[in-house]
Amino acid sequence: MALSISEVALLLEQEYGSPVGWWSAETPFEVAVGAILTQRTSWANVESSIDALKREGLLTPSRLVDAGGAKVEMLVRRTGFYRQKSKYLLELASYVQDEYGGDLLNMSRRPQYQLREELLKLRGVGPETADSILLYALSMPSFVVDAYTTRFLARLGLDLGQGYDSIKQSFESAFENDSARLSKAHALIVIHCKSRCRTIPVCNGCPLLCSCRLEAEQKE
Ligand code: SF4
Repeated sequence: MALSISEVALLLEQEYGSPVGWWSAETPFEVAVGAILTQRTSWANVESSIDALKREGLLTPSRLVDAGGAKVEMLVRRTGFYRQKSKYLLELASYVQDEYGGDLLNMSRRPQYQLREELLKLRGVGPETADSILLYALSMPSFVVDAYTTRFLARLGLDLGQGYDSIKQSFESAFENDSARLSKAHALIVIHCKSRCRTIPVCNGCPLLCSCRLEAEQKE
């Protein structure tokens, strides 16, 4: 039985409840910093580096730019690729400072498509990072297609077309460009992939068992 995206999200919500404070951060800029630091590392390492930046009072664009590369490198070291990530953070901070008066929320004044284009021009900001900033820092309806989502959809056999943009648009259309519904759907997929649909999935008892292609293939 093939399910729609909304039906999948509903079943996941029935299983895990509504995710509350899933991407917790004190400011939108902290969300953006987390979106860059989370590349190729665990969230625990990101939290540790964000705490270190916070302790030094550097979680504003101007303070980060003033701190300079060597200091930022030292503080984000735990996330790996720290030299690159330090450069990416400084570029993001300069961009927010120069273009938006140092307040990331001022970005909301630009149309989403234009903002996304701008973000994608920054070093270290690919589609997933740009969409994380738009969705979680600015509450704009821009779905994040991460590795969890891609693996989950492939296992489930939900065909949303090929490539990042096709999957993104399918979610945005299914959830009527509602940022709250999109962030909830993304959070539920990540929660499901961390708790059950892991590298080696724990399918027994999965709420999607009856409609999962991987499960059906394993039975053959
Ligand atoms: S049945 Fe297994 S593979 Fe399919 S969604 Fe559930 S956990 Fe993932």
